Amino acid sequence: MSSATLKIAALAGDGIGPEVMREAIKVLRAVEQKFALSITLTEAPVGWAGIDAAGQALPEATLKLCRQSDAILFGSVGLPDRDPTIPKEQRPERAALLRLRKEFSLFANLRPVQLPKALAYACPLRPERQGDGLDLLVVRELTGGMYFGQPKLTEEITDGTRHFRRAIDTMVYSEPEIERIAHVAFQAAQWRRKKVTSIDKANVLENGVLWREVVTRVAKDYPAVALEHMFVDNAAMQLVLRPTQFDVVLCENLFGDILSDEAAALAGSLGMLPSASLGATTGEQTFGLYEPAGGTAPDIAGKNLANPIAQILSSALLLRYSFKLEAAARAIEGAVSAAIAQGLRTGDIYNPADPAAKKVGTQEMGDAIEAAI
Ligand code: NAD
Repeated sequence: MSSATLKIAALAGDGIGPEVMREAIKVLRAVEQKFALSITLTEAPVGWAGIDAAGQALPEATLKLCRQSDAILFGSVGLPDRDPTIPKEQRPERAALLRLRKEFSLFANLRPVQLPKALAYACPLRPERQGDGLDLLVVRELTGGMYFGQPKLTEEITDGTRHFRRAIDTMVYSEPEIERIAHVAFQAAQWRRKKVTSIDKANVLENGVLWREVVTRVAKDYPAVALEHMFVDNAAMQLVLRPTQFDVVLCENLFGDILSDEAAALAGSLGMLPSASLGATTGEQTFGLYEPAGGTAPDIAGKNLANPIAQILSSALLLRYSFKLEAAARAIEGAVSAAIAQGLRTGDIYNPADPAAKKVGTQEMGDAIEAAI
């Protein structure tokens, strides 16, 4: 992969998007040099930046650029004071982000959650529950299940003299849908601690029974990876009781939505959390959109206060999952750890009680990570 040109679309978006994207690009360029990569990175407006530049949250030229690229590095979109001024379907999150997910059939959402020991105070769990630091990966199916299954409706019911409404959502999964997300989880586990915990509700749901059966079958292709099954209610409990037992957590859409946020809370700040949404794989390349787990943080935008680490770690995921450049991805992750180890802290992860901590801005944090590459 390293001899080919990596075509990346960089869509910074709104709020803190441009500030944190600047730092991520800086770090990517440092990695490009160190590993003699060839990166073509093209920036384009999206979100309110897109509306202001071209009248649409996802301008045609931006979409065209994405189609010509191998991966999208995305910032965040939406501004709470401007969003309500336009119709829902034109608002940035729906018209840009959801549209991109649909356009590129991004079916797998990956949310790594890491809590280095040095940031133990940022975690809501007591230190003895954190072991030597937390490191888990939630793999969530993104295009199936209850969010999209049909029928999906609210209907009027007449029962004798009583009238009321009834709402119906339907959970549907087919074997191929479960298979492809299971492969993503097992492949990710091969690069990690080689354990997949598959989440279901097989004691109650037909979907759970099929999920468990298919995941067990797919596991046979990955003999080096250990598989365990866990009911979703127990998983919710285990995440706060003993989160160190998890490596890769594999979930369907609804369960993954809930558990990935629960897991994210363990890291202490949204500013630390990257994510990847993956689509189809052609040859050695997987199309993906990589973005921080947080939003545009308008409360701190434009003030050099945002933590750029989520965006920088998103670019590490881009190298890992779209281009299989594991060493380059690890170089970025190592540089982030080095900056944390030096005591550098943006406001969201700053602990005034820590004498070794030095409060820094967005740019200074980016500089330190770039220097550590
Ligand atoms: P938010 O994630 O933007 O902010 C929540 C809190 O986390 C704020 O206090 C913010 O300052 C803090 N925070 C977030 N990222 C941070 C970072 N990198 N460094 C330091 N602190 C950080 O959520 P919100 O306030 O609910 O939403 C703001 C806007 O973002 C809304 O318009 C929303 O629709 C949009 N949004 C976009 C996305 C996306 O583009 N994927 C995701 C979520 C929210």
